[in-house]
Amino acid sequence: MVDVVSSEKRSQMMSGIRGKNTKPELTLRRHLHAAGLRFRLHHPDVAGRPDLVFRSRRAAVFVHGCFWHRHEGCHWCTTPASNLEFWTAKFARNVARDIEVRETLNASGWRVATVWECGLRSPWLTQTVEDVARWICDGTENFESALVRPRNETQMPQARKLLPILGEE
Ligand SMILES: [Zn+2]
Repeated sequence: MVDVVSSEKRSQMMSGIRGKNTKPELTLRRHLHAAGLRFRLHHPDVAGRPDLVFRSRRAAVFVHGCFWHRHEGCHWCTTPASNLEFWTAKFARNVARDIEVRETLNASGWRVATVWECGLRSPWLTQTVEDVARWICDGTENFESALVRPRNETQMPQARKLLPILGEE
């Protein structure tokens, strides 16, 4: 399958800007909506402009790319071999910003969910959406989606069975 990416999208990917309405985000939205949950998108009045805001439940959801936001231990949290200093600094800024946003939201009574993009891939999507939907409704503290594919598979041989299917949309 040929990977077709628009030039706008590609420059966005290359620059590392967090895109709005990315495919994993749309997938999560569609499923939560189907589960009867209603939300606001990128609410400008909520710190960090969360991807999804469930105001009455005081819940804010961020969909984070495993690469840019550094999903620790994740298969897709790779580090480029060249320009290591540049990448290290860039990643550190992203992680620091995420922590700051989460703490700001928590301090004003918001609960925060971090949904890693890996959890929205086809073999794990249903479970992740169920986990998020349950968290939105149950009122518990901050949530983070499960690590679905650890980086070092030799230590986790059972993860091999969960490899995403090649050619998924
Ligand atoms: Zn991940």
